[in-house]
This record gives sequence, structure tokens and C-alpha cells, in this order.
Amino acid sequence: MTENPTDRWLAPGEPPPFTQHNLTGASPCVLLCDHASNRVPQRLNALGLPASELERHIAWDIGIRGVALQLSQLLDAPLFVSGYSRLVIDCNRPLSSPGSIAETSDGTVIAANQGLTAQERAERAAVFFHPYHDAIRALLDQRQAEGRPTLLFSVHSFTDQFGGQRRPWHVGLAYHRDRRVGPALIEALRRDPALCVGDNEPYAVSDASDYAIPVHGERRELPCALVEIRQDLLADEPSQHLWAGRLAEALRTVLPGILLPAAPRIAS
Ligand SMILES: [Zn+2]
Repeated sequence: MTENPTDRWLAPGEPPPFTQHNLTGASPCVLLCDHASNRVPQRLNALGLPASELERHIAWDIGIRGVALQLSQLLDAPLFVSGYSRLVIDCNRPLSSPGSIAETSDGTVIAANQGLTAQERAERAAVFFHPYHDAIRALLDQRQAEGRPTLLFSVHSFTDQFGGQRRPWHVGLAYHRDRRVGPALIEALRRDPALCVGDNEPYAVSDASDYAIPVHGERRELPCALVEIRQDLLADEPSQHLWAGRLAEALRTVLPGILLPAAPRIAS
């Protein structure tokens, strides 16, 4: 019998490595939430970290899960949500990246991530990385086969303080090769003069630092972008819903210009 590594890694009662929501939703948008959780499998003993460290932004994108779930509802869009901390393995970093299984993050040494063998790294990928991305790939394959237009949108939050600096942006759009979505969403969000909207700030997308947008979006030539919301603006459910509403409205504004209806088929 082939052993399933997930059974060895996750005890009964622990949540699955990822969840998928609203897969048959009608929206052209497909949503990803790579950093939704700060959960660590029991087997890894909190990665040797005190609980206070796992509450920090180094372990997850604080507040973003509520935004992602609400946005999926508002748009009627499929959503994939990673179930474990990015310190276990980062679902938005290439496996070859030093940040894939971070040994340190924002000054904190991650004890359980020091000096892992190739086998240990491969096991974490087999349980927490590949199944998540395989499920995303399967849905995108299916939509492609059905000729359904798709816009890939990845949702994140960022810490308001980094390296001793206070970050001014309320929200930022990050994009790289595909320029259909990011700039259009920036323009839509800037219609609210109270919002400070970053253009590839505080982060941009790159092949070295990102996985979801380059691999699932750009390689398929899908319109795609990543949003980052400042985490102190997502402290409770009402504020998470407010941001989900903002993003839903901005996406609805830009979608018609991005996903032009297919030309009518001419009978021969
Ligand atoms: Zn993130």
C-alpha cells in the first residue's frame, strides 16, 4: 500500500492542507489566499517558536482570510485557501527560493527550519505545497478546456511596520508581465482620494520571489495581479468586509475592459 504523507503529517482532527470554496462560482475571477493561516501541524511543535511569534506577520497575512472569503461570496468566485503557516512552507515562493522554508524571518530565527535535508523539504512540499497548487492547476485547466475567461487574483496583507519604517500605503497592487489588471485596479481604487494605493509597492511580483502569479497566471497568459492590504486595516470582521467590498467593486469596474467578450462565431 502506498503511504500517503499527509496521513503521517496531519493527526486526526487537524485541518486539511488547504480548502477550496465556491469552485463552480460564475465569476471570471479565480481567487488565491496563500498566507491565510498561522497554523503549524502538531508534528512540528510550533516550529520551536513561542505563540507570540506565530501571531506576527511572519507566520501569516493577518486579517486576509476574512477578506478572501467575503470577496469570494461577493463575486461568486472560486477561492483556494492555504491551511497552514507560510513558515511551514511558503505557498507563494518557488521551492528553490531561500524563503520557501524560511530559516529566519524579520529577525526571528525559525528553530525547526534550520538545516533541513532535501528529504525533509520534499515532504513538506508534498503535504502543504503541491496539493494546493495541483488543485489550482486542475481548476484552471478545466476552465481553459471549457473556454471560460479567467482573471487570477491573489490576496495578501502586509505589515504596517517593517525595518523600523511605517508604511504609508493602505493597499498596493503587485504585478509583473501582465499589465492588464494591476494598473487598471490602481486607477479604480485611486478614485477614492482618501486611499493611498501602491503601484508595485510595498512589493512587486518577480519570478524569484513569487509562485502563484508567474506560474498560474503569466505562464497561461491569464490576466493576473496580486493585492496587498495593510494588516492594521483588517483588524476585525467589519473592516475585512469593507475591504472585500472595495476590491469587489474595483474588480467589477475593470473586468469588462479586460475580458472582452469573444467575437461572435460566423456561420460558414
Ligand atoms: Zn502574503
